[in-house]
Amino acid sequence: MADFDFDAVVVGAGAVGLASGHALARRGLTVAVLEQDKVIGQGVSSRNSEVIHGGLYYPTGSLKARLCVQGRRMLYAFLDKHQVTYDRCGKLVVATNADEVPRLAAILEQALANDVEGMEELSKAQVHALEPELKAEAALHSPQSGIFESHAYMLALQGEIEAGGGAVVLATPFDGATPLDGGGFTVRAGGAEPAVLTCRYLVTAPGLSAQDVAKTIEGFPLTTIPVGHYGKGMYFRLTGKAPFSRLIYPPPIHGALGTHYRRDLGGQAVFGPDLTYVPTLDYSVDPSAEPAFAQYIRKFWPGLPDGALTPDYAGIRPKLHGPDEPQPDFRIDGRDAHGLEGLVALFGIESPGLTSSLAIGEEVAGRLGL
Ligand SMILES: Cc1cc2nc3c(=O)[nH]c(=O)nc-3n(C[C@H](O)[C@H](O)[C@H](O)COP(=O)(O)OP(=O)(O)OC[C@H]3O[C@@H](n4cnc5c(N)ncnc54)[C@H](O)[C@@H]3O)c2cc1C
Repeated sequence: MADFDFDAVVVGAGAVGLASGHALARRGLTVAVLEQDKVIGQGVSSRNSEVIHGGLYYPTGSLKARLCVQGRRMLYAFLDKHQVTYDRCGKLVVATNADEVPRLAAILEQALANDVEGMEELSKAQVHALEPELKAEAALHSPQSGIFESHAYMLALQGEIEAGGGAVVLATPFDGATPLDGGGFTVRAGGAEPAVLTCRYLVTAPGLSAQDVAKTIEGFPLTTIPVGHYGKGMYFRLTGKAPFSRLIYPPPIHGALGTHYRRDLGGQAVFGPDLTYVPTLDYSVDPSAEPAFAQYIRKFWPGLPDGALTPDYAGIRPKLHGPDEPQPDFRIDGRDAHGLEGLVALFGIESPGLTSSLAIGEEVAGRLGL
């Protein structure tokens, strides 16, 4: 591969682009990760719940099911190796009333089909013994779920890429690419010092810009680019002592896992995200949503004091489905999808993309035949 400036160029230094760069660097390739921002990991990867998902819900045979479980196992090992802080605190999926109890059985069946380890069914009394303030008719316990310091994780990935002779190039937007005769690409990079470079492999992991980026690649068939939507999720923070030590999730809502509780690594309680489709990248948190949040939270925590929630932050999911459409799988498009040898284009990497990121990187390498 001596004829190219880099063996591989990756677009986007979020968790998924960095994990893809890491997977390629592990195979001995020289990698350049191009990032338009001045800092890594400021996109979707900076505005999420930082939950390491067990992998319970995703349909059998889907990429989400396989890559979440595989990615979660890889992630804990990576965090151990790089001494990145995490808390494998476990999670309770709770039935807040009798009508929700049958949904737990379906989630348990799916979790077992997905090869999720250690799942347990808990009675009302067992839940009470674990989390006395929690209102639940029954629950599922997922001991493998946890939370972690996602920015430190991304810094460790950057370090691995650089240790392998690669580079994470900041303030450098990818402006487009052209396939070369005989394989590979020329890549146009913008920023203060625009440059043209060549590579054998190209991976696009630009999160919310996936559709726009694909359109700048010559020969990329427009009909294969999925329509994107923005799925906003807001968070509220609790003033006061965190009531639970485990993650608490009611059964999922359509299109998302639903507003949940976590105690972050600083010990503070955070609730969210909800789901609203928005036309623009609007990260404001509307204080008038507080009553709806409080009403929802009281279904599983009746003890929430009045006025204890304050607006915190919001994230936006790169969705591939509208509000009334079924939730699709991750799209990891290789040559069979778009016809371009040496290119993998990622679309719709919403949750559980952070948990799955290391496994997505391996999948990207596999799709390139590496
Ligand atoms: C509210 C919310 C909660 C979530 N909670 C969880 C969770 O608890 N657990 C979990 O596993 N997942 C969760 N997710 C999903 C997870 O955050 C994402 O799947 C993951 O962060 C996506 O990473 P990414 O690298 O694909 O995208 P990003 O982090 O957005 O990275 C893309 C990068 O590409 C850059 N870029 C874009 N265009 C260009 C260009 N032209 N040139 C150069 N650079 C470019 C951007 O600046 C950005 O840095 C959540 C998501 C949301 C929105």
